[in-house]
Amino acid sequence: ELAAPTVDLDDRFARALPEMAVPWQAEEAPDPRLLALNEPLAAELGLDAAALRTPEGLRLLVGTAVPDGARPVAQAYSGHQFGGFTPRLGDGRALLLGELVDPAGRLRDLHLKGSGRTPFARGGDGLAAVGPMLREYVVSEAMHALGIPTARALAVVATGRRVRRETLLPGAVLARVASSHLRVGSFQYARATDDVDLLRRLADVAIERHHGDVAGAENRYLALFEAVLDVQATLVARWMLVGFIHGVMNTDNMTISGETIDYGPCAFMEAYDPDTVYSSIDEGGRYRYGNQPLAAEWNLARLAEALLPLLSDDPEQAVALAVESLKTFRPRYDAALADGMRAKLGLPADADEALVTSLVEDLLPLLQADHVDWTSFFRRLADAARGDAEPVRLLFLDLAGIDGWLARWRVMGPDAEAMDRVNPVYIPRNHLVEEALDAATAGDGTLVEELLEVLAAPFDARPDHERYAEPAPRDFGASFRTFCGT
Ligand code: AMP
Ligand code: MG
Ligand code: MG
Repeated sequence: ELAAPTVDLDDRFARALPEMAVPWQAEEAPDPRLLALNEPLAAELGLDAAALRTPEGLRLLVGTAVPDGARPVAQAYSGHQFGGFTPRLGDGRALLLGELVDPAGRLRDLHLKGSGRTPFARGGDGLAAVGPMLREYVVSEAMHALGIPTARALAVVATGRRVRRETLLPGAVLARVASSHLRVGSFQYARATDDVDLLRRLADVAIERHHGDVAGAENRYLALFEAVLDVQATLVARWMLVGFIHGVMNTDNMTISGETIDYGPCAFMEAYDPDTVYSSIDEGGRYRYGNQPLAAEWNLARLAEALLPLLSDDPEQAVALAVESLKTFRPRYDAALADGMRAKLGLPADADEALVTSLVEDLLPLLQADHVDWTSFFRRLADAARGDAEPVRLLFLDLAGIDGWLARWRVMGPDAEAMDRVNPVYIPRNHLVEEALDAATAGDGTLVEELLEVLAAPFDARPDHERYAEPAPRDFGASFRTFCGT
């Protein structure tokens, strides 16, 4: 007989911000079955993986067994969705089970997605299908292995309930962990209530939880804003460096912590093209690859607006301060991106900045013109640094162009080993993810397992897994679309 899991969950968010927390419970799951359990993460959280696998453990992971002392809530937030403001969005199909302190002393949210309708569900059914929940599991864990700040996936449990989409699909609940779920939309919600005390409490919670170093600043709320600018500038630069396209950068999906959340219609770019967009709902291309820094800056302007009453008692002064701070987003982003590109090219930290910039500027059009796979290019470039330029040359039609570029790059002394540490071999390529999810939806989880295993060590080339490093076959790539909210 295995013991049920013990987990000590706090209700800090609900206590500090009751106006933004609706106590709620998960819907019954008729027949819970474990589809994926993240044992390393469970260990990191101080949870007993064996106990999570018990029937009582599964009930915890779908939210139907609530640990003593926990008080699950649906969180209220607002959001600009594709530019249009919705004042009352909130967790329509998610629950914050509570916060736990991991053995390293870090406070983490334990959160469910697909756990049933809440008062924020509007027209939605509150549910989620197996495929999209495993998709979030696979992609968020891949992001983590790539070293990119992200919410983590703890488990996916099939509920035994059918979910109606275009067809009937098996339902699932995703249990995930984040350093918090505070978002730009949380601040927009507090601001929209016109309750400055609530707004201040929210900002204080955010400072305490994520940006403690600003607590002593002369204008701590302006310092909070700048801290968020900084973590988001770095985050979006990290996305760009690996070709990640979030797909739905609405203000409700942008965190205060600087972690990536909401893996709906996200996908990885293959052939380099700033106009790449995969999401079926992003018709105008608002969240296309090349527009992500602008979208982030736009969202941060919305955060600034929400914070205005805290920045100064003088409204004009508040606006002036916000505008000045917001201007620092672009240079912060540019610096993070330039530094990352320098590293991808294998060049030393003290390399001549102007030379690196001109190398990058001249490389991108070559990649775009020949539809070169972003990820393969940098790995093969490391071969060129080792003296074998043929693999990278094979990616180009314009050989004169790439040869000229390689000559300029080589004289700067690139370090192949350093390149292999920052340029992944394996990313969650769209065709591989879809193939694995289709199999899992049909009841066979072996491809998901294999994919997770490869993506857990993205920088280590495995000779027996070449298929996982290759771009999609032509007939897959052109028509590939991702779907949101399923
Ligand atoms: P997202 O675009 O995934 O960030 O979701 C936007 C909003 O729609 C959030 O308030 C979600 O909670 C809500 N939502 C998405 N899907 C569902 C669903 N199936 N049922 C209820 N609410 C949903
Ligand atoms: Mg969301
Ligand atoms: Mg979503």
